[in-house]
Amino acid sequence: SEALLEVQNLKKYFPIQAGLLRRTVGHVKAVDGVTFQVRPGETLGIVGESGCGKSTTGRMIMRVMEPTEGKIVFDGEDITNFQGKRLRDIRRKFQMVFQDPYASLNPRMAIQDIISEPLIVNGVANSKQAAERVAQLLETVGLRADDRSRYPHEFSGGQRQRIGIARALALNPKLIVADEAVSALDVSIQSQILNLMVDLKDEFNLSYIFISHNLAVVRHISDRVGVMYLGHLVELTTKQELYSNPLHPYSEALLSAALQPSRKKKRERIILTGDVPSPANPPTGCPFHTRCPRVMDECRIQRPQLREVTPGHLVACHLHS
Ligand code: SF4
Ligand code: MG
Repeated sequence: SEALLEVQNLKKYFPIQAGLLRRTVGHVKAVDGVTFQVRPGETLGIVGESGCGKSTTGRMIMRVMEPTEGKIVFDGEDITNFQGKRLRDIRRKFQMVFQDPYASLNPRMAIQDIISEPLIVNGVANSKQAAERVAQLLETVGLRADDRSRYPHEFSGGQRQRIGIARALALNPKLIVADEAVSALDVSIQSQILNLMVDLKDEFNLSYIFISHNLAVVRHISDRVGVMYLGHLVELTTKQELYSNPLHPYSEALLSAALQPSRKKKRERIILTGDVPSPANPPTGCPFHTRCPRVMDECRIQRPQLREVTPGHLVACHLHS
């Protein structure tokens, strides 16, 4: 089927400047050539440790950060270089939900104004229509229409995330990029918000990119999952396949550290040694070779490409080429 979103070889290099003249002496390769698709109605999870480039990837897709290289195709249109009105129009179709709803909700604005702001700014509703829409959206996310005259500090963390979601839904987006959307919440509240997001996806025909460091959270909500390490997508497959049959040694290590071993397949706990290398000075060859328990000679020289090793299961590792 046609992809809703396609990113091709997406890169973000931040210049490192030094000296009085601020000469560029190198680059932090935050995202170094990421390619994937999101299908209509799909939730793609992106998982990895902090600094792996997952948030930067999300921000480039949202077009709030310019890619250094690569292509973003949304709904059949190459939006990589959209500017001005075209960019504003396309931005209505994708929205972001953040980790800390409190930081993204203006404390001086009533909920009514917070949620209706995108409607008013985009000129798609007058204030009477906006008031009705806000009441409807609040009920959709499990709050009361009466809550609209209250202020962000009067709500709990979970309720504030519901407000953030209502605001994201206001313009009927097709894609929501959620970056650590439940990471600041208590575990019991996390599953309420995740379940809400699952319900809303069906109700509004949404697709999600769900970015998180938390493997259990990503498992709860995703259809497919991509694993990122040091700016690279190292594995991409269905949730079932990744969690039962991880092929990349980094995915294996992440899963063995975070989750209960599965009953079917006894897996040993893999402890990774060494720090994540700096993206300013990434390793040659495979980005994971400095920490990989299964490193081979060629791994230090040759960068493994992401390739499909079984139908729908893509891995970037010389063990699977
Ligand atoms: Fe490990 Fe080599 Fe595979 Fe990289 S390519 S993950 S170093 S085995
Ligand atoms: Mg992040």
